[in-house]
Amino acid sequence: MSTQATEEEVEAVQEEIRRIGFRPFINPGVERKVIAVLGELNVQKADLVDHFQVMPGVARVELISDLWKLASRSYHPEGTVIDVRGVKIGARDVVVAAGPCSVESESQTIELAHQVKSAGAKLLRGGAFKPRTSPYSFQGLGEEGLRILAQAREETGLPVVTEVMDTHEVDLVCRYADVLQIGTRNMQNYALLKKVGATGHPVLLKRGLGSRLRDLLMSAEYIISEGNHQVILCERGITTFEDSTRNTTDINAVPVLKDWTHLPVMLDPSHATGNSRYVESISKAAVAAGADGLLIEVHNDPAHAMSDGPQSLTPEVFYDLMQRVRKVAEAVDRSV
Ligand code: PEP
Ligand code: MN
Repeated sequence: MSTQATEEEVEAVQEEIRRIGFRPFINPGVERKVIAVLGELNVQKADLVDHFQVMPGVARVELISDLWKLASRSYHPEGTVIDVRGVKIGARDVVVAAGPCSVESESQTIELAHQVKSAGAKLLRGGAFKPRTSPYSFQGLGEEGLRILAQAREETGLPVVTEVMDTHEVDLVCRYADVLQIGTRNMQNYALLKKVGATGHPVLLKRGLGSRLRDLLMSAEYIISEGNHQVILCERGITTFEDSTRNTTDINAVPVLKDWTHLPVMLDPSHATGNSRYVESISKAAVAAGADGLLIEVHNDPAHAMSDGPQSLTPEVFYDLMQRVRKVAEAVDRSV
């Protein structure tokens, strides 16, 4: 819409979009009002550019050729900044979320929360519902784990990121979490994506281990098209023929996603490498490549962790990593 468009003109355009059988979607948080027109295009509807172009208040009609419309940078040229209890993701600060793979006990989680906070982490991560490859592995503490995370937030002020695996648990997890994590195995669980899209909660959407970036963006589109535009994307390594590390970090994902979408991009060097020895290198590479945040596993006793010990850093190693990541951030005009 033109910057002088009146409320009535904006409403009339939306009404016309609905009349024709499409869905209007107004982009929040931008100065100029952009109305996305969503729906299936058919022969009768194919020639509507001219139709809308002449309506009062319309500045320009553009076809977004990307398959992801609302996630596309052409729809929303400025980067989206997501505010999680005052922590801004997608702004100048590179935001680090750190904590254990799994919440194991109250004392462990609270102590780790204090430690990662003093090292500079801005968010606390920890799994209460765990997607494990084997049904015989530790499955997480469930609601008790969520309660512990909320307690750790209470004591440290760190907002909480935690995974939700099942549509039936979304409401429960929302009562405790600040950011809903969708794990790699659920990236294409469309029922779950729609359900988290219907909440007002920020979502951390992890890339599927065998998914292309275009598939990741289509999954983000599911969430946004339900009305929730607070989506953070996360590269966490993909499966390749290379077996020297647990997964292969697709560092290309960072600049490509920053190009294709306005959504903030984080990188998880812990799952991407599966090896604590390489977490610092990949953290620095991610920040140098333009990532808006990191998701890092930290454990007080990695050798005895109930999940992902080999890739978990001790709080001391994490502290040192943060000092060096900060220098890389400064080199690319960011801060940590
Ligand atoms: C996790 O963050 O602990 C996790 C299970 O991640 P992913 O879904 O990327 O494997
Ligand atoms: Mn893990």
